[in-house]
Amino acid sequence: MGRIFNFSAGPSILPVPVLEKIRDEIVDFQGKGMSLIEMSHRGKVVDEMHNQCLALIKELLGVPDTHKVLILGGGATLQFGMIPMNFLWGGKTADYTNTGAWAKKAIEDAKKIGKVNIVWDGKDANYLTLPNPTRLKASPDAAYFHMTSNETIGGVQWQDWPEVGDVPLICDMSSDFMSRRVPVEKFALIYAGAQKNAGPAGACIVILREDLLKKCPESIINYLDYRLHVKENSMYNTPPVFAVWAIKLTMEWLKGIGGLPAAEKLAAERSSIIYEAIARSQGFYTCPVPQDCRSKMNVVFRLKTEELEAKFLEEAKKRKLDGLKGHRSVGGCRASIYNAMPVDGARALAQLMDEFAKTNG
Ligand SMILES: *Cc1c(COP(=O)(O)O)cnc(C)c1O
Repeated sequence: MGRIFNFSAGPSILPVPVLEKIRDEIVDFQGKGMSLIEMSHRGKVVDEMHNQCLALIKELLGVPDTHKVLILGGGATLQFGMIPMNFLWGGKTADYTNTGAWAKKAIEDAKKIGKVNIVWDGKDANYLTLPNPTRLKASPDAAYFHMTSNETIGGVQWQDWPEVGDVPLICDMSSDFMSRRVPVEKFALIYAGAQKNAGPAGACIVILREDLLKKCPESIINYLDYRLHVKENSMYNTPPVFAVWAIKLTMEWLKGIGGLPAAEKLAAERSSIIYEAIARSQGFYTCPVPQDCRSKMNVVFRLKTEELEAKFLEEAKKRKLDGLKGHRSVGGCRASIYNAMPVDGARALAQLMDEFAKTNG
């Protein structure tokens, strides 16, 4: 059975060498006579692997010593609640940018905890555009400023970062984490569910500036308290060992291909191959997102009718290109092209697009 090109938004494609390594080591981890996922997380083997994973993330992303890398359960969704629980208590207000489906979810949870000030809202433009970061301002007394660097469903991606002064900048980077270089020092907190670009589902990577911990309230249950996770090095309770291991292998793979500078170049290459196929179709395919907001991770496009889209998706499946159906909330097509997607995958999709447009145009 051959591997297909998997364009799913998440869980999503993983590098083949990572899967092969897991296959080779899953039964007997490096001669220990048992699997890594059968071992106590308090033992030396898991502890070393865990620390290597955290160190690799730190190294690849260039995380300064002022920040701590955590790996937590609960996905990025738990962070939607944990962030306000830790930093939006006591009558404070937080700034949020409402850029689409994921930002909305973050806002929804924050509103349950405290006051939310929407500094920018993409609603009128159907969430197809983004704010100009240089024109954004944080409220001077905001508890923090929240943004979503890449809207996985809408296919819009910030190209630059806002300047928010002393207000802590918090970013949901779930779907473009590790796909480009990021000035981590600008951010008070970055979080990313692993299953989009860093590994399998079951873990969320959180990078936070340690001075932020002074703002946490006393009355918070242990698992939701960042201070405890920092103090216990993400080992307060049983960590998602399998996910951590797979993230570590994915980070090793990423380092092997040249780290973030290489990932950034490949992302540009893959995405332009598909956007160019849209452009040369002369309207057979359309991308609703304006040029300057287009995502290099999730390329959304439409065909003229839903019937044609269904036919296109069927044809794609025949060619072993899968996961191209747009999110159920927006319809259309979507190609998620994360780090592990070979450039050949993007080329195969572009070729299908060309040929399908010729025979159905
Ligand atoms: C997928 C996604 C989430 C939710 O992640 P879970 O790990 O499923 O909780 C949040 N934000 C963005 C931008 C996403 O793409």
